[in-house]
Amino acid sequence: DPLLVATGLHKSYGHTPALDGADLTIRSGEVVAVMGPSGSGKSTLLHCLAGIVRPDSGEVRYRGEELSAMSDGERSALRRSDFGFVFQFGQLVPELTCLENVAIPLRLNGTRRRAAEAEAVKWLERLEVADVAGQRPGEVSGGQGQRVAVARALVSGPRVIFADEPTGALDSLNGERVMRLLTEAAHDTGAAVVLVTHEPRVAAYSDREIVVRDGKSRDMERVS
Ligand code: ADP
Ligand code: ADP
Repeated sequence: DPLLVATGLHKSYGHTPALDGADLTIRSGEVVAVMGPSGSGKSTLLHCLAGIVRPDSGEVRYRGEELSAMSDGERSALRRSDFGFVFQFGQLVPELTCLENVAIPLRLNGTRRRAAEAEAVKWLERLEVADVAGQRPGEVSGGQGQRVAVARALVSGPRVIFADEPTGALDSLNGERVMRLLTEAAHDTGAAVVLVTHEPRVAAYSDREIVVRDGKSRDMERVS
């Protein structure tokens, strides 16, 4: 069974249509790139899939359950237990160390500090940033910060990682390193990845591409 199914999504901001009949299916463990020009509705589609934005019409089902039929509390519990998020920048808490940042999702799930930090160290190692564990986000490079953010997105064992332009602020070498580590970790853990990007080199790490144009999405089955 598919993990996430979006059908006929429409969403407008005032008179500006952001989504105009978008459909999308995400299966377990697949890395899907959502591509398209700026302003085409990619971020809005990702936010609808993650239950952060409510579509005006259409539905999103996660493991068969319609997101809009859940209460706000159920949706945020679902985001916490099943979803991980990586954004372009500004997502790490500046007052906390990189280690403490990665431990946050586990602490929120009630894991004791010592166990949470031990698990966080494993993910920092996995993402090749164990050396910055004790530093604050402001003291590390952009590429290191994004790898810390990926570690945080993976630490609680999500079924879906939502990544919105995760390499957008990085040079191509660091961007490819982030993508390699993210997709390897996702394939190992069985997490699906919904990756919004406008860069073909980043999308090349996906199993499949979806193109969004004027709020409409089209599935491009790609043999890779
Ligand atoms: P993309 O991610 O492809 O750049 P977006 O989903 O961010 O596209 O935006 C699609 C359209 O919706 C754009 O015209 C954008 O200006 C508009 N939009 C997105 N978010 C908002 C918002 N919060 N308020 C008003 N307009 C928005
Ligand atoms: P009402 O019946 O009062 O309109 P809703 O069930 O439409 O209440 O929404 C309650 C709250 O949950 C609102 O803040 C709405 O934006 C939010 N919400 C509802 N469905 C979703 C969804 N699929 N994704 C994100 N937020 C949603």
